[in-house]
Amino acid sequence: MSPPPSHADRLAAAKLWLVSAARQPGPDAPRDLPYLAHAVYAVVTVPSSEVPRMTCDELWRVYINTDWLEAAPIRAIGAELAHLTWHLLHDHAGRARDLRVDSTTAGQWHAACDAALEPTLRADDLVPDELPRAADFALPAGLSAEQYFAALSKLPASNGESTRNQPVEAGCGSGCDGLARSHELPPGLDLAQVGKDDANQIRRSVAIAYREQITDRGSESGDAWRWTQQILEPTIAWQPLLGSAVRRAIGWTNGNTHYTYTRRSRRQSAVPNVLLPGTRRPVPNVALIIDTSGSVDDHLLGRALGEVDGALRGLGVTGSSVTVLACDAAVQTVTRVRKARDTALAGGGGTDMRAGLTTAAALRPRPDVIVIFTDGHTPWPHQPPAGSAVIAAILGRPEHTLPPSPAWARRIECRL
Ligand SMILES: [Zn+2]
Repeated sequence: MSPPPSHADRLAAAKLWLVSAARQPGPDAPRDLPYLAHAVYAVVTVPSSEVPRMTCDELWRVYINTDWLEAAPIRAIGAELAHLTWHLLHDHAGRARDLRVDSTTAGQWHAACDAALEPTLRADDLVPDELPRAADFALPAGLSAEQYFAALSKLPASNGESTRNQPVEAGCGSGCDGLARSHELPPGLDLAQVGKDDANQIRRSVAIAYREQITDRGSESGDAWRWTQQILEPTIAWQPLLGSAVRRAIGWTNGNTHYTYTRRSRRQSAVPNVLLPGTRRPVPNVALIIDTSGSVDDHLLGRALGEVDGALRGLGVTGSSVTVLACDAAVQTVTRVRKARDTALAGGGGTDMRAGLTTAAALRPRPDVIVIFTDGHTPWPHQPPAGSAVIAAILGRPEHTLPPSPAWARRIECRL
């Protein structure tokens, strides 16, 4: 069943083009995506004359039209392969089942998944021809497939026509929607395939490698970043994560040691002319930016603030070294407080955390750590503030997919 050698060669070249480093930049230069290697070398390829280019099924079998494979440039083959691989990594088929996607809604689900993938693919200049974009449906970028699907389902018939009437045979295969196609092989132990456990193992390997690469590059990646969080930190309670993110950002490693930041050593009076190492390091300055636009849940905000308060108190960081900024579309109040929870919060308008970050970055002394509490429905600056570690506490309800935040901020999803 495997393709003849020349086809295999073209596929091998496309995989290599995806994962190897470029000697020189350029549109046809290799994409340098080593994280994708775990996945693209796991897919099983099957020649098929019934698909226009490539489709995939849930067992990671990729069906390829060999006429297309012969004629297509290597970069187009690589882009299609990356596109299908991301469907498999995101488990779009399993998620489609959760939403009860059927043959009448599969077209919308494909468009929703492709729109969610598009920013990830675009970041690496890997968008295949004809891939739907969020902008095609006048929807914002960076949402999840479920959010796009919900929005597309509400479109009036005339606008939704193109997705609604697409035959199920088109599209990306059952690897995207879980609906078996006539050209797809049956599941079978004697056939080459990737089972559930192996798929989860691959997802984990890719997520770890992807997170490293994206942190180095600092690029924005929408749904893919959210995906790595879900794969790598699926069920951990957010409270200890938020506390430890604060401690780590301040650079405090030993759980039992309290640093004295400003006070001199107690032994100092006994040896007046010698400066003892009581001051281990300068007092860290912390800025808390609180999204006071009406959409943030007060109760959840209180709990998240309490967690950060507790972590800071445990480190002896209190009072004048903590600045609280209440921010909606602009910064409303700036206060230095003993306890973040005591702050009177003004605001309630639109949301723009860029204003809060700009004000925080201009504080003197400059904050070592900035913690932002927000529902995430805000624009973000492209660059992190210089010299400050940023933690984004994204507040939301358990059933919601929370909006993306920039890769340069340590993201903690806090749910009621
Ligand atoms: Zn697709």
